[in-house]
Amino acid sequence: MSNFLPDPSQGPSNTPATLLPSVGEIVDDATDLLRADGELKPGQGTITTAIALSLGVMSFLGVLAFLFPQYLTTPELRKAYNVDWCRALLFSGLLVSGTLSLFNIVFNRRRTVNIVAFAFVLVTILLGGSTVPVGDFPDHTPYLGMDWLVLDLLGSTTVFVILEKMFPLYKNQPIFRKEWQTDLIHFGVNHLLVGLMLLIVNFVIHRAQVIVVGEEGVQQFISTIPFLPQLLLCLLVADLAEYAVHRAYHEVPWLWRIHSVHHSVETLDWLAGSRLHMAEILVTRIAVLTPLFLLGFDKSVVDMYIVIVGFQAVFNHANVHLPWGPLKYLIVTPDFHHWHHSSEKVAIDKNYAAHFSFIDYVFGTAVKTDRQFPEKYGVVGSRIPGGYLQQQAYPFKKSQG
Ligand SMILES: [Zn+2]
Ligand SMILES: [Zn+2]
Repeated sequence: MSNFLPDPSQGPSNTPATLLPSVGEIVDDATDLLRADGELKPGQGTITTAIALSLGVMSFLGVLAFLFPQYLTTPELRKAYNVDWCRALLFSGLLVSGTLSLFNIVFNRRRTVNIVAFAFVLVTILLGGSTVPVGDFPDHTPYLGMDWLVLDLLGSTTVFVILEKMFPLYKNQPIFRKEWQTDLIHFGVNHLLVGLMLLIVNFVIHRAQVIVVGEEGVQQFISTIPFLPQLLLCLLVADLAEYAVHRAYHEVPWLWRIHSVHHSVETLDWLAGSRLHMAEILVTRIAVLTPLFLLGFDKSVVDMYIVIVGFQAVFNHANVHLPWGPLKYLIVTPDFHHWHHSSEKVAIDKNYAAHFSFIDYVFGTAVKTDRQFPEKYGVVGSRIPGGYLQQQAYPFKKSQG
């Protein structure tokens, strides 16, 4: 991996830039930029180029979702969309990406990559842009969650990059830290396969419900609890299940192989939480959601739980430090979960909880230290590979470290 180098197309000041770069040059420059990590230095056009390229690609994926909604949008989300609002978002993406990339092309800043960004804008407009018509389409088709990927990537990047810049735990940590590419792929695949995951999870939970008929007395009792206390109870039950599964991942050797992929990241930020082995996502979801359904929590409560778990799973990894005070003994904060990812002796197999930190204090697995933050992260003597596919294959390889 290389650092973000100065623009290769900008030679010495008296060398005129070529009018049109070759396809080879464009591909090389774009690949170099995507492979780079480190700090983005202002004034070299790299920041605007990164924005132009990401918005260009996301606009293109967005218009594809408009064109093929039956295959590229999530049925649960479709119902909630305001189509005008989605069109306005797509229009803004095209406008910002188009303006920035055109500006950079004209002023010869990272020209080659901006040509790629502008090409995405042009193709998106040719495909219909923000006024692309949407016809009727059938339900119940297998789908990829392209809409979920684009919207969550846009929303999470905005919210968490701002939070991480305003309240950083490690001030000098760059947005594009080491191995951001691998975690972006994890983020992408996890979002695209949301439909397949839901299908498997629902199938298993349905089976579990048929086999173990829920205790009706308990279900009736839970349905009489008002929303807020019921939500707190739901979070507690979910976190106890999560605690048990998470502890098993650490203490059972073959499960640790799967979970160690999550621990292999050595620089934590909001995106790092996405690094999860596929099997772990499935097993954890099934183990946590099954008791919630068996106990008969209201749908509105479970929906709210899913929103909270989605937020905390990202937030707990963020490079953020806030003055939590005594709240740190009650809820899981980024400080608490950062210790879980530390490779220091004091932190090994500690701080398992996902919502309520008091669970670890009760079970005696909370990290005991006066220091506020760990110095080292990752897996002790790690041999876990860096690439996405290699990480998915890692637990099943014979020669384990
Ligand atoms: Zn863990
Ligand atoms: Zn984690």
